[in-house]
Amino acid sequence: MTYAIISDIHGNYDALSAVLGDIMRSRVDRVVCLGDIVGYGAEPGKCIAAVQGLDGWTVAGNHDHGAIGQLDPSYFNANARRACEWTAAVLSAADRRYLAALPLQRRIEDGDRRCIAVHSTPLRPEDWHYILSIDEAEYQFEQFGEPVCLVGHSHQPVFWQLSPAGECSIVGREYLRLEPGRRYIINAGSVGQPRDGDPRACYALCDGDRRELVIRRVEYDIGAAQKKILKAGLPPRLAERLAHGT
Ligand code: ZN
Repeated sequence: MTYAIISDIHGNYDALSAVLGDIMRSRVDRVVCLGDIVGYGAEPGKCIAAVQGLDGWTVAGNHDHGAIGQLDPSYFNANARRACEWTAAVLSAADRRYLAALPLQRRIEDGDRRCIAVHSTPLRPEDWHYILSIDEAEYQFEQFGEPVCLVGHSHQPVFWQLSPAGECSIVGREYLRLEPGRRYIINAGSVGQPRDGDPRACYALCDGDRRELVIRRVEYDIGAAQKKILKAGLPPRLAERLAHGT
């Protein structure tokens, strides 16, 4: 089986449609979506419809919960809160029902291969913590039993590995070969608002049989996404940052 792992779309349909084109050409068996379908970008409804149409395995992110009133707005900074309120006002009742029904985490099994998918962290995903340091990654490895945990949330692709000796380290940000006996936390980056300095849309392709995972970067019409954000009256910073990948 081959998988596409997409995360943090954030209402950026221009980025999502470019990524879905790339996924179609890669003949993927299944799409895993790690949440934050909405928030920041100007086309949340179109992004929800597209993700729904994939019939993949999807979990909820903090912005998905924020847009349906399941997360206190004080959690967000000013721009994110403004985007959250704007998104809440434009979602349809069906969109809200869809987001409300998403689980916080999912266990995925493919033969003898198992993984867990979650937006933030395997321990208390509803607290929306970030995995940003080796110490945090090491602690989170103790909170799940599967060989692999897929996460999003930070908008930065990175692979953490736990060796059989219990040593935790970063083993790459672009290509990963999954070695037997080792465990991994894999951040697939962000489709709609990358924050690693590369403005291209980001997602991961995984070949389960070859035990390989690669981060893909896809060009898209950033100018079109920016114009829609400004036209919607969303904070200009949300448009500007797309050009820099920050
Ligand atoms: Zn996000």
